[in-house]
Amino acid sequence: MADAFAELLWPTRCVFCEMPGELLCEKCRASLPWICQRWACPDCGAPFGYLTCTECEHDWETRTVICSMGFSGAPARMVSCLKDAHELRLAPVIAAAMATSLDEASSWPARDGCARFDPSAIDALCFVPATPAAYARRGFDHMELVSCALGRELGLPVADVLARRDAKDQRALGKKDRAENLAGTVEVVDDVAGLDLLLADDVVTTGTSMRESARALLARGAASVTGCALARVW
Ligand SMILES: [Zn+2]
Ligand SMILES: [Zn+2]
Repeated sequence: MADAFAELLWPTRCVFCEMPGELLCEKCRASLPWICQRWACPDCGAPFGYLTCTECEHDWETRTVICSMGFSGAPARMVSCLKDAHELRLAPVIAAAMATSLDEASSWPARDGCARFDPSAIDALCFVPATPAAYARRGFDHMELVSCALGRELGLPVADVLARRDAKDQRALGKKDRAENLAGTVEVVDDVAGLDLLLADDVVTTGTSMRESARALLARGAASVTGCALARVW
């Protein structure tokens, strides 16, 4: 009843083109900038990096990273509407997109020769946490919501094992400054020894948040960290 009333007052519109009806209309769904997993870099998830990658030195701590789409248009709006406009109904939409790409990536090998994604080889799903400042501003951790939905899609338990201290806002910083700014700001707050983990984030830009999180998990004895994200900036 409350939902029907809200729908009457504020009809659901497409987050990208504002067409009334669905959160992501059929037209926008059909033109999402999917990354083809066959040709994506198995190390950093950038598109077309399978043979030679311009976006990484193939030295990431994650065993592989699987990104669903380029960070532009609809995916960029999906992330900002979830985070900043509190459109929480986008969390399962984002999770479904990530699950689709993970499924596609299961057909292709990582550098270790094993499938990039194999749910039976993963013990739990964890996520790059919001900074305390972002959490205080928004009142929720959007990646926790996405991870809960993704865990349900994949049949994996969600392990809330990472915590973050505030660092300076990353957006204005270059690659080297981002790494220095984040060094030591991610903490592991539970036992992860021996676990093979799937680590989720919204957007991989230079990879510093994901790499810093993976480094912290491996330092605490995690067996492996497979990264995944909705979007990749390159
Ligand atoms: Zn649309
Ligand atoms: Zn790469």
